[in-house]
Amino acid sequence: MINLILLGLPGAGKGTASERIVDKYHLTHISTGDMFREAMANKTPVGLEAKGFMDKGNLVPDEVTAKLVEERLSQPDIVAGFILDGFPRTTAQAELLTDILDRLNKPLSSVIALEATEKVLINRLSARFMCKQCGATYNKFTKKPRVEGTCDRCGAHTFYQREDDKPEVVKNRLEVNEKMNAPLKDFYQKQGLLTVINGEQGPDVVFAAVDAVLSKIN
Ligand code: AMP
Repeated sequence: MINLILLGLPGAGKGTASERIVDKYHLTHISTGDMFREAMANKTPVGLEAKGFMDKGNLVPDEVTAKLVEERLSQPDIVAGFILDGFPRTTAQAELLTDILDRLNKPLSSVIALEATEKVLINRLSARFMCKQCGATYNKFTKKPRVEGTCDRCGAHTFYQREDDKPEVVKNRLEVNEKMNAPLKDFYQKQGLLTVINGEQGPDVVFAAVDAVLSKIN
């Protein structure tokens, strides 16, 4: 059982690393951003509440986010463990998560932080586009679909740029997240759980470093 947190600013490569971890370790990928986007698309009460925050690149309030995470972590499909991607983003959320995991008796195995400079993050986010059907992520320079216009993962043909990847919103999003990033790493460093990996490297090199950490967990 591997219970993992992936930390990293938007664009650091959490989604790409998660796909590879899921392939090899069969962990359940839990992305709060994906969950909010899905809730928004389905116009659920949580989605409608989150929309105003997400559109501006601000954080959705902790009580909404923590409840969503606790409900997801309580589902029975988490067999081999989980990857939390995009949660926690603040030390307040990290403390809430500690309580949630205590209640569910799911101790954390490891916390991996992917790091990249702001310049690289901005370049990646502005080149990123997504499959409208399954949310798979592409990059117009470094990760195009194998067949032009067709999603590698689900075969759909419609793509879009996330509203919050547009330049007007990216700057605020990075600022909001950067402020919280260092204290969050300290929080897990103090617990002896943190490994920092250079997220500017290519996806294969990043995954090799992640794999080296995970393969030591039994
Ligand atoms: P992401 O896909 O992780 O970049 O998340 C997209 C947006 O969803 C963020 O800009 C926030 O508005 C919201 N969101 C995702 N995760 C969290 C979180 N842990 N706390 C608060 N808001 C979140």
